[in-house]
Amino acid sequence: MKVLVPVKRVVDSNVKVRARADETGVDLANVKMAMNPFDEIAVEEAVRLKEKGVATEVVVVSCGPATNQETLRTALAVGADRAILVDGGDVDLQPLAVAKLLKALVAKEAPQLVIAGKQAIDDDANQVGQMLAALQSWPQVAFASKVDVADDKAKVTREIDGGLETLEVPLPAVITVDLRLNEPRYAKLPDVMKAKKKPLDTTTPAELGVDVAPRLKTLKVSEPPKRQGGGKVADVADLVNKLKNEAKVI
Ligand code: AMP
Repeated sequence: MKVLVPVKRVVDSNVKVRARADETGVDLANVKMAMNPFDEIAVEEAVRLKEKGVATEVVVVSCGPATNQETLRTALAVGADRAILVDGGDVDLQPLAVAKLLKALVAKEAPQLVIAGKQAIDDDANQVGQMLAALQSWPQVAFASKVDVADDKAKVTREIDGGLETLEVPLPAVITVDLRLNEPRYAKLPDVMKAKKKPLDTTTPAELGVDVAPRLKTLKVSEPPKRQGGGKVADVADLVNKLKNEAKVI
């Protein structure tokens, strides 16, 4: 069984993101980038399926500029077998475009399972997995916290408001993963070296026959208002007075 894992390169989660001065977007100049954290979990799950003998091949794919190769190498270093870069150059690849690119790759690669992150921490869209499932007319399970694959079926536990839900879907299917599914491993240095020799193919949206022109226009990206400093109240009466007359919340 082949597993396809889409991985996005995003601003590292430890970096404090800043809006560009002209408010046209986020400042990416000299900013540390990393694999989207949910995609690390997706890769880990696919690699574990391979280690259990359930999956035979783990293929990772990233859509974006050529620098995404670095992210793909990271995935190869933790156990993916093969990588595909869909080189979109400088074009802003929005979720629908990514889902269409993945659909084109699914047609070529014929995976039985696509395991994606539940959302990319830069756009927080939470759309690609669902859109891909819809385009493929495949079953989907989002927010997985446990995955068992056997007999051409996936039994998936997902986190919902106030509890857990367990669903069974026939394969092929799309699963998107949540934080508690697993703890991704770190790449060991010898594996990082070995990853350099693993196959990494490059294609383009044009070769895949996909129009990736942006459909959504970002009007403005701005920083939240600066937090005002706190203050001390003298007593409960003072607190109530401030809540009533200054904050006007009671
Ligand atoms: P989103 O819908 O943008 O929040 O992304 C959800 C998931 O789709 C991510 O966690 C990735 O698994 C996948 N994805 C999104 N954008 C890309 C991209 N440019 N290249 C590869 N995978 C992506």
